Amino acid sequence: MTGVEPDPAGTPAGGRAFAVGLRNRFRGITVREGMLVRGPAGWGEFSPFPEYGPRECARWWAACEEAAHRGWPAPVRDRVPVNVTVPAVDPGRAHAIVAAGGCGTAKVKVAERGQDPSEDLARVEAVRDALGPSGRVRVDANGAWDVDTAVRMVRELDRFGLEYVEQPCATLDELAAVRRRVPVPVAADESVRRAEDPLRVRAAGAADIVVLKVQPLGGVRAALRVAEACGLPVVVSSAVETSVGLAAGVALAAALPELPHACGLATMQMLTADVTADPLLPENGFLPVRPVAVDEESLRAVEVDPTAWRARAEAARSVADEVPGAG
Ligand SMILES: [Mg+2]
Repeated sequence: MTGVEPDPAGTPAGGRAFAVGLRNRFRGITVREGMLVRGPAGWGEFSPFPEYGPRECARWWAACEEAAHRGWPAPVRDRVPVNVTVPAVDPGRAHAIVAAGGCGTAKVKVAERGQDPSEDLARVEAVRDALGPSGRVRVDANGAWDVDTAVRMVRELDRFGLEYVEQPCATLDELAAVRRRVPVPVAADESVRRAEDPLRVRAAGAADIVVLKVQPLGGVRAALRVAEACGLPVVVSSAVETSVGLAAGVALAAALPELPHACGLATMQMLTADVTADPLLPENGFLPVRPVAVDEESLRAVEVDPTAWRARAEAARSVADEVPGAG
């Protein structure tokens, strides 16, 4: 293993671009792309999704710059509980994924297009069986249900004991309506994309929990400010980054004063390769709070032409002063 020479400037000009395969299609993409930058404080990842323009990317760049130039606030815990994720698979496969995952919490995809509600029930039942009574089961509908369907499904699925339901419907009004009618806590994920969103979620009475991601919010410190202003319990989730980006999510989860729920940071397995020889993978349901060292051999294996990514980062940086939370 060879260490990578630092680029002390930590600027887009020294960025190293990567393209890593996804094991399954995610947000319509099959390859996760981005850029790594090394500064005096360490490595940062800049990996906004392809459709995002410079203003949206400005916060993602701010998160990368924080990692490379400032590092993160001191952790208050040395490991972070994480959930295993169960896609919309059959019950036998769901059982096997949870049994192999070693996590005490499982997040189960429900409301998959083209599937019958009975498939959700069978999947969640299998997951509960695999976890045992002390495990926690949360379901994620990715906003796919209408209010009545959500209320009916949450009540039925709660037979197996739900920790919470994530984004049962698309809009804040719908989330608030569901929340008033079910005994299960509601978490907002897709409803939170920008720093001001968690406050809107709270004001609308739309959720009991917010899912926060570091890059879209502009860094660990920015996300901590959002969490404090919002006042709701936080579940830290990834944007399906390499271990460099995941380390920022772990840093946020490690710095939050309270962390009552397992985080959605065990996503390294969704990628076919990493940029480190020592990926951030869960051990007995926890991710360790530790730096991630990029190694040259791993990075070279996934490295691509950085020209477009450097330009994208420069464009994001050039509008940072106009974007709240990115300057
Ligand atoms: Mg979600």
